[in-house]
Amino acid sequence: MAKRQFKTESKRILDMMVNSIYTHKEIFLRELISNASDAIDKLSYKVLTESDSKVGKDDFRIDVKVDRGAGTVTVSDNGIGMTAEEMEKNLGYIAHSGTLEFKKEIDDKDNESIGQFGVGFYSAFMVADSVRVVSRAYGAETANVWESEGVDGYTIKEGRKDGFGTDVILHIKDDKGSEEYSEFLETERLRELVEKYSDYIRWPIHMTVDESEWKETGEKDEKGEPKKDYVTTKVDKVVNSMVPIWKKSKKEADDEKCREFYKDKFRDYEDPVSVIRVSAEGNVTYKALLFVPAKAPYDFYTRDFQPGLQLYSNGVLIMDKCADLLPYCFRFVRGVVDSPDFSLNISREVLQHDSQLKAVGSNLTKKVKKELERLMKEEPEKYARFYESFGRQLKYGVVDQYGRDADLLKDLITFHSVKQGKQVSLAQYVEDMPEGQTKIYYVTSETAAHAKDLPQAEPVLAKGYDVLAFTDEIDTFVTNVLREFDKKEFCNVTTEDLGLESEEERKEAEKKDEEYKDLVAFAKETLGEEVADVRISRKLRNHAVLLTTQGNITFEVEKYFREMPGQAGDGIKAARVLELNTDSGAFRSLESAFRTDKERAGKIVRVMYGQACLMAGQSIENPVEYSDLVLSML
Ligand code: ADP
Ligand code: MG
Repeated sequence: MAKRQFKTESKRILDMMVNSIYTHKEIFLRELISNASDAIDKLSYKVLTESDSKVGKDDFRIDVKVDRGAGTVTVSDNGIGMTAEEMEKNLGYIAHSGTLEFKKEIDDKDNESIGQFGVGFYSAFMVADSVRVVSRAYGAETANVWESEGVDGYTIKEGRKDGFGTDVILHIKDDKGSEEYSEFLETERLRELVEKYSDYIRWPIHMTVDESEWKETGEKDEKGEPKKDYVTTKVDKVVNSMVPIWKKSKKEADDEKCREFYKDKFRDYEDPVSVIRVSAEGNVTYKALLFVPAKAPYDFYTRDFQPGLQLYSNGVLIMDKCADLLPYCFRFVRGVVDSPDFSLNISREVLQHDSQLKAVGSNLTKKVKKELERLMKEEPEKYARFYESFGRQLKYGVVDQYGRDADLLKDLITFHSVKQGKQVSLAQYVEDMPEGQTKIYYVTSETAAHAKDLPQAEPVLAKGYDVLAFTDEIDTFVTNVLREFDKKEFCNVTTEDLGLESEEERKEAEKKDEEYKDLVAFAKETLGEEVADVRISRKLRNHAVLLTTQGNITFEVEKYFREMPGQAGDGIKAARVLELNTDSGAFRSLESAFRTDKERAGKIVRVMYGQACLMAGQSIENPVEYSDLVLSML
């Protein structure tokens, strides 16, 4: 029979698995056992909902067997098994969502990340030169055999197997120089690995281990005492403790253990930034073990990402991804929730209306928020790391659903403080406000570093007030939804009244407006439709010009809609306002030209407008024409 080929991505991963010096070869056993356990979970769930099932919960087991003579290790389970089609689909094709990101990661030779992509089964090839999978699906009459020696491909043919479930048989590689494989043919070594990585697996893992003891031989010695021999016998033993980690106390399973569990179960190669333990009694009794990851999974910001917590009822998995417990904005949280009160055949629809679950969900949401606040205060570096990955999620959460979760999230979001040169929360900003400051000032800017040089920020900073740099397009939307924080209004320093003027300054400014009325009208006429207004600036100190907007549509909003697919952005345009600084040289040139040479004055106005556009990061509509204009004036 012709060999079938692995799909391209699978090939690359296999290649890498086999050829890279993977420091954790030993994890293959954990991967196979975890698959066996998943398979039993699936079957146990299935038979729960079947009334006339012949399968008893107590029959489930995983076996790890060594055959030194044949050079094989076998991991068996009596779980749900696989049909030929399932073998083809599940074992012939890895990294189902093989996205670009995924390939990028692989190119980075980031070996540690491998587990993230559901390539667990393939880790077998790190220690085996051939792998045989014999599986009989629950309810099927026949079994199938999948066989592969690695990159060359695999075959699937019919076979025989007593009972349903799966045997994964690894033929262990020969030792090669410093690369030792024979250790994996030692029962004691495998037992160690089970204890290290798979202790919490909920199903019994059986091994045949040596047990030695003194035994009476039946004869008597010289003194007439019964004779004893030290004999070693092979006994079948359950080698894991089977207590799920979330049922253990902090003493039995410290944070380090929980982090290991997280990495293993949720396929992350980085420690989570937080471990959250919840143990509740009362109306609903439950335990939860939640994690806040440090980094977003590669598909987090795509449609492929499936959020949700695992639900257990007394240790039985009842739902793999329950997305309804935590609000969408907390969908980065991973973890498990276990309660004897959860109904076994709970479904999505039931869930949304279940008041007990609602209570659990709202309590967990509070716990997550509290933990994030703690992290922000007590471990700011960790929070910063978390925020780098998920900050945008939180900000989107504020805006989403007309601000439904804004209250929950407003204390968790941070912005770049121009004064302090780092991220600060709104509470921190308000706390640092000097006497007399009444607003929260912000400026939109390409980059945080850029913000402190922007002319718009100048007068506020000069006053000793901090300015938040909004570098993400979502930021302005956040303030639109929140409107205020701690009764302090947000103020866009570019477009809004800064509220910094004294009565005297205001009078002075009004006098100026009157004085330059004609010039301003002339400039406005010159620019025509391009601007909504031209004004004598009350903000500028060092710069000659400033381009701002008036109304609700800022440059950021305009950009946001422009970049949206389709016609959504049509007609959405910010109303531009050109501000002129009367103390600048450019303005003096304009003023004198206005008196003597109107044509030249018009050109100066156009150049001032063009420069203002550039400073605001806006493109010039006709760059060639504009450059010719500037050059003609030199
Ligand atoms: P993951 O466990 O993350 O899905 P794996 O590479 O470990 O990825 O396994 C791939 C798939 O192969 C599993 O999702 C499962 O469908 C199937 N599989 C692997 N081992 C078994 C098994 N012992 N019994 C039944 N199905 C299995
Ligand atoms: Mg797996």
